[in-house]
Amino acid sequence: MNKKITVLAGDGIGPEITAEAVKVLGRIAVKYGHVFSYDYVDIGGCSIDRYGVPITDEGMKICKSSDSVLLGAVGGPKWDDCPPAVRPEKALLAVRKELGLFANLRPTKLFPRLAAASPLKKRIVGGGIDLLIVRELTGGVYFGPKKTETVNGESVATDVMPYSEHEIERIGRVAFETAVKRRKKLTSVDKANVLETSRLWRKTMHRLADEYSDVEYNDILVDNAAMQLIKNPSQFDVLVTENMFGDILSDEASMLTGSIGMMPSASLSSGTLGMYEPIHGSAPDIAGLDMANPIGTVLSAAMMLRYSFGMAAEADDIENAVNEVLDSGARTADIMPSDDGSCCTADGSCRKVSCSEMGSLIADRI
Ligand code: NAD
Repeated sequence: MNKKITVLAGDGIGPEITAEAVKVLGRIAVKYGHVFSYDYVDIGGCSIDRYGVPITDEGMKICKSSDSVLLGAVGGPKWDDCPPAVRPEKALLAVRKELGLFANLRPTKLFPRLAAASPLKKRIVGGGIDLLIVRELTGGVYFGPKKTETVNGESVATDVMPYSEHEIERIGRVAFETAVKRRKKLTSVDKANVLETSRLWRKTMHRLADEYSDVEYNDILVDNAAMQLIKNPSQFDVLVTENMFGDILSDEASMLTGSIGMMPSASLSSGTLGMYEPIHGSAPDIAGLDMANPIGTVLSAAMMLRYSFGMAAEADDIENAVNEVLDSGARTADIMPSDDGSCCTADGSCRKVSCSEMGSLIADRI
């Protein structure tokens, strides 16, 4: 197959981690006889520096005309004081909106060899964690009207959180369909005791639950969900929630696995075009040091093969390669055990590798 991929490397560690994912995709192309071609488009701070905007119209056009988009990360302290209209994150929201990427899939998997890297006790995570958060991505408070005004001599800021029934149904269907393909268990997260949008969310989800009677469905309030993810994460399989709750809960869930650097994500449209990115940010504190963990980005590339290109065997190949490399004891700094070495290989041997070494080790296993 011939596939055109837009690479939005972005800022901070973005160029380092996307380079490793492209390295791994190169091996897949050779092994399976595919041709992947790449367009590199500036996004975020680097685009602001070069063009004055976080993404150009031309760049957006290239994204739209590709088969899929691979993103590193955007932002950093240099652009923190940019006016709201040209902040680096603005480009991400724009790409999601323009490409109609309404569904964000965030798998949280604890690799067996990394059990001790989890901050939770072994009795909680020892049995492994394998859950998936389906987050609504183009609605809610991040996209609603916002303003800051002066009222009675003081500043008052307002963010509005709108949700329509069709937006909720659309993400609900993705979640139920995903649950059908997994352990047939879906938990919907809302704040229906307080928020009007959550009451509509719950009503719509219940209507869908009647249609998907083979899926075991339950509701949970977001504050309880935050607590249960720490107390007993293995009770969950698929969780579905609105944009802001999903943003927060998926970062919380990522820590169960030991490092945010391990976590991939897929943002899907109603067609095959998707955007794939690790869930972390640009990590300015380690940018340029070749010490970032590229696994979240490499696993995002695997999701791209699976969801946008229908290449399940190739995606499995990448995931197995990651598993094998972790089994061999290779660790980037963020997942290197600090004390007892219990998350290493059976003989306790673990060695620290750089970002580029980790990418090469994974590529070499394919
Ligand atoms: P961050 O995710 O960039 O970093 C948080 C911590 O995790 C840091 O200590 C960092 O070193 C570490 N970390 C993150 N990814 C890692 C990796 N692959 N390997 C090893 N360690 C890793 O979050 P932050 O510090 O809050 O944000 C930094 C910048 O990133 C900000 O400008 C923020 O706006 C932006 N951001 C961008 C995205 C995105 O592009 N999707 C998402 C979140 C934050």
